[in-house]
Parts: sequence; C-alpha cells; structure tokens
Amino acid sequence: MLQFEDSLPPTPMPMTARGGFQPPKPAPAEAPSSHGRVRVEDKRVINGMADVNQLVPFKYKWAWEKYLAGCANHWMPQEVNMSRDIATWKDPGALTEDERLVVKRNLGFFVTADSLAANNIVLGTYRHITAPECRQYLLRQAFEEAIHTHAYQYIVESLGLDEGEIFNAYHEVSSIRDKDQFLIPFIEILTDPEFKTGTLENDQKLLRSLIVFACIMEGLFFYVGFAQILALGRQNKMTGAAEQYQYILRDESMHCSFGIDLINQIKLENPQLWTQAFREEIRGLMQQGVELEYRYAEDTMPRGVLGLNAPMFKEYLRFVANRRCQQIGLDTLYPGATNPFPWMSEMVDLKKEKNFFETRVTEYQTGGTLTWE
Ligand code: FE
Repeated sequence: MLQFEDSLPPTPMPMTARGGFQPPKPAPAEAPSSHGRVRVEDKRVINGMADVNQLVPFKYKWAWEKYLAGCANHWMPQEVNMSRDIATWKDPGALTEDERLVVKRNLGFFVTADSLAANNIVLGTYRHITAPECRQYLLRQAFEEAIHTHAYQYIVESLGLDEGEIFNAYHEVSSIRDKDQFLIPFIEILTDPEFKTGTLENDQKLLRSLIVFACIMEGLFFYVGFAQILALGRQNKMTGAAEQYQYILRDESMHCSFGIDLINQIKLENPQLWTQAFREEIRGLMQQGVELEYRYAEDTMPRGVLGLNAPMFKEYLRFVANRRCQQIGLDTLYPGATNPFPWMSEMVDLKKEKNFFETRVTEYQTGGTLTWE
C-alpha cells in the first residue's frame, strides 16, 4: 500500500551517517572553520561515520576515476542499427537452428540478469557502502544496468521474438534458473531491510555477497553469453546485436573491476574479515559458479556451433575463475588453465576509434571541448 510521508512514524534522531541526511548542527557564536568537516582519514568503505553527502575531499580516487570512465563510455541501444539483424533473423537459411537457440537462450538469461543486478545495487549494496565516491560509481553503474536491460529488450523487439518466452526463461529454463537461484540468496541478504553491517558476521555476509556479485555474476556468469554473441558477430552474423554486446561487455568489465577494487579496499580496511575459513568458502562458491555456468554452456550448445563447443568453455571458465581468484587474493582453483578465446580480450579493450562491427551511428566523445584522456 502506498503511504504518504506524513503518515509514516517519526524517524528517530539522530540518523546514521549511512543513509542519513544529517541536520546541520547549530553553529557556535565563533565557529571554528574546520569543525565537523569531513576528514579524509575518517572515510571508510563500510561502517564509515563521515557524512555520505560530501563527495570531496576524495579518498577513493579509483572509484571517482571509474565513474568518469563509465560516463565517457556512454552509449544508448537505439543508436545501433538493427536492420541487418532483422533481415538475417527473417531469412530461414541465414542461421542454423543451433545458432537461433544460442540467441534465444542468451537473451533469455540476459533480459532479466541486469534487472537483478540493478535491484541488487539500488536496494542492497548502495545503502551499505559509506564512501560517497563509491556511491557515485554505483549510481552510474545502476544506470548502465538499465541501459543493458534496454539493449536486450531492444534486440528482442527488433527481432520480433516471443517476449513471454524470453522474459520468462529465468523461470522456465533450468540452466538459467539454476544460475539465478544460486545468486538470489546473496542478493536477498543485502536487500533485507533488517540487515545492517557492523558485526564480524554481517560484514562477512556483505563481503561474501559483493564477491558473488562481482566475481561470479558479473565476472563469470556473463562470459559464456558474451563469447557466444560476439562469436556470431565475428562471423558477420547478427552484427547489430554483437555490437550492443560489445558495449555491454566493456561496461560489465568495468563493473567487475570496480567490484574487485571495492572488495580489496574492504579487505584492506577490515583484515579481520579475511579468515582462512572465509577464503575457503569463497573458493567453494567460485567452483559452484564454474559448474553452473558450464551447465549453461552445455544447454545452449548441445552440439558444436560457431566453432565453439561446451568443452572449450570448460577451459575458458576455469581460466576466468582463476583470474577472479587472483584479483581478490585467493589461490587459483584450476592451475594451468589457458584462454581458448584470446579474441575476447580484444573485445574488452574496445576503444572508441575502433568500432568493431561498425553499425553504430553516434559517438559521444566526438564533439565538445572536454577531453578525458
Ligand atoms: Fe553490471
């Protein structure tokens, strides 16, 4: 039921720095100029007491830099021309049944995945993070998740796919449902209105959820899907969709990298959280993530397709999981795993000048006098 603000019970004062809008303190007759001002050394990523409404003085410059980089990479789905894809999809001979299955399963996962990610940020993560620089990035990230959901919807609509089938795939297709069901408990911890950080147990819960979100969801569960659609694009098929995925991949690799920096900063500020038992638990979760994503690869590619097959993805996922472990300071899980898709790294490093599939009509950084590099 919708409630108006004046019908809500009065909020007890004082509010916390976490989400609170601190009422100004009455100024003494001769207020010292620095009294009550935010000091860099008081800022913390979690459980901070400094005013979250004051972005500067900066402490977490890396978060601010990523916010700027995210803005510089801005794009919108409708700028990508989809007419070739539409013609390809309509032509019965242009794609095999296996290629069509890849596209539909792929969209089936992604159309809801970024909504899940957005809700996790807005309703969960954001309020537990007390560094305004990090919140600033999370606001940008939340909008990018909306753009991604928009992009998938735009592809579904352009191709005239069955919306009910695609948007319900996360309920109806077990390889997709299993991935989401693995994630949901970790999201629910953060979105529970009763959940608060400030104890060892709860701070570990937060850290665990952040790791699952950055390293397993954004850092692993997206990668079979990205590689599939980009492989189609590399064969000159569905190039509009492939170009959108390339922009999404660039955004997502930034989300993942921000998440990893956030995790490492929390570790640095709260070393007591990083116990041996906790590290082992995270490695176990990572292994589970690899298995779930591998099952998804098998389900979407029952036979080889586009020069790809599920066993290649087993190696790829092991390679990616090792990388995620290293990035957060864990021992790798699969020694010796190599990357069967080196071209994926090129895709991540997309530069504005190099528009791989060349279907986009607008560039954001061409005009104006601002330079960002
Ligand atoms: Fe994301």
